[in-house]
Parts: sequence; C-alpha cells; structure tokens
Amino acid sequence: MVKNIALVAHDKKKPEIIEWAKKHQAKLSQHNLFGTGTTGKLIKNASPELNITPLKSGPLGGDQQLGAMICEGKLDILFFFTDPMTPQPHDVDIKALLRLSTMYNCVVACNLATADFVIESPLFEEPQVHTTDFSEYADRSI
Ligand code: PGA
Repeated sequence: MVKNIALVAHDKKKPEIIEWAKKHQAKLSQHNLFGTGTTGKLIKNASPELNITPLKSGPLGGDQQLGAMICEGKLDILFFFTDPMTPQPHDVDIKALLRLSTMYNCVVACNLATADFVIESPLFEEPQVHTTDFSEYADRSI
C-alpha cells in the first residue's frame, strides 16, 4: 500500500540523504514523497524518478507543514537526517516536529542507520491507513 513519506535533511546531512534516497529509489518511488524545500529539490535533481513534492524550506515553515500533516494523520514515515553538531535557526520548529512525531506515533528515522532499518523492515511493506489527498500541502512555486 502506498505510504506518505517525508524526506528532510539539515545542510551538512543533505549529501547523505541524497545518496540514501538514490540507493533506495526503487522502494521509495512506490510511495508519495514529500520534502522540505531544499532537500526535496536536491533529491529530485539527483533522482528524477523520485516524484517528491517540495514543501516550504525547513527554516521558512517546511518543518511546521510536516508537523501539521502528522497531527492530521497524513504522514506515515519521516526520514529526518538531523545534524547534532550545528546550531539551527529553526531549532524550535525541529523540536516541534519531533515532538509531534513522537506524540502521534509517526515512524521517524533521524540518522542513516535507523533509516536503513526502517526501509528494510518487513513492516515497511505493511499497509497503513492514511488515504487523504495531500495536494493541498504542495507548494510548487518554491
Ligand atoms: P531544507 O530544510 O530542506 O529546506 O533545507 C531542512 C530543515 O528543516 O532544516
């Protein structure tokens, strides 16, 4: 069953998520993909077969858009490659996103090792229940 999956990475982790998405593009391409603006665009450029919908850039509200999707039950999995060594201007948004992920029991992977575990898990193929149309969240003008 098709899942709604978000891909986000802080700047120093962007090369990592781009490579990871390329490595797993066969699986990822079966699902609805969303990304914060910069991450989404970079992944799409590197892997054009991944039809990823870019939201706002993270520091401009993209993390909050994903948080809204989570609390509305519209996101199944969040791959969020965080950089624990660099202060982020939108730290409060990051904390809010991780808080909502935890609260709503959304699957979250914050590093490469966990992302591999999640995507290789047999549960990744299991059906999930969210079937809502996400087009209202797309901001293709970024
Ligand atoms: P970006 O946002 O993909 O627009 O850089 C990532 C983030 O939330 O830090």
